[in-house]
Amino acid sequence: MIIAVDGPTASGKGTVAKNLAEHYGLKRLDTGSLYRAVGLAVLDAGDEPSDVGAALAAAEALDLGAIDERRIRSSAAGLAASKVAVIPEVREVLRRAQKTFAADPKGAVLDGRDIGTVICPDAEVKLFVTASLDERTRRRLAELHARGEQITFEELQAQIAERDARDMTRKDSPLYQAADAHLLDTTALSIEAAAQAAYAIVDGVIGPRG
Ligand code: C5P
Repeated sequence: MIIAVDGPTASGKGTVAKNLAEHYGLKRLDTGSLYRAVGLAVLDAGDEPSDVGAALAAAEALDLGAIDERRIRSSAAGLAASKVAVIPEVREVLRRAQKTFAADPKGAVLDGRDIGTVICPDAEVKLFVTASLDERTRRRLAELHARGEQITFEELQAQIAERDARDMTRKDSPLYQAADAHLLDTTALSIEAAAQAAYAIVDGVIGPRG
């Protein structure tokens, strides 16, 4: 079984995907971490994320097992990720890695922006997870402040809106809800309530387990 989870930044899709993977005993790939790792590698090299040659070289050199899970969570890495993600050559390299992961016969949960539309268009279950811009900003702000990053609500909201716009308007694999994806709005939901709502959607498609 493949479960595709798409949605904008800080919508709760990562947490929903993690809970789905645990609940159904599936492995999970957070595809945003690949773009973040490429964006961070470009910044570390002192290059511009919009530099096609530098971004492609970073994508080709990416070692999935060596991603620094802490450093890729910075707001700078997130912004750089959304810039390298516009480059079709970068997407092509990362697409191959994602398709290989999804080809495992044991099934998987993948979350990102184009999973239900491009990476796994035949996924058994597709979710589109969203939340209001204010709520997404509040959640990401709490995460960044917990990391010790100094950023105001207004600055962060502008960054998130900029990333949303770039993700939704790019030519290659823009973010949008697949026609057959189930919408899950987590604005007013706790983590547990969002997880339960996601299980109900999946069970509704595949039938309850056991
Ligand atoms: O999900 P996360 O915020 O970590 O993703 C960082 C960036 O990576 C997104 O803003 C988006 O530009 C890009 N991305 C993408 N396609 C995916 C996953 C992430 O373009 N499947």
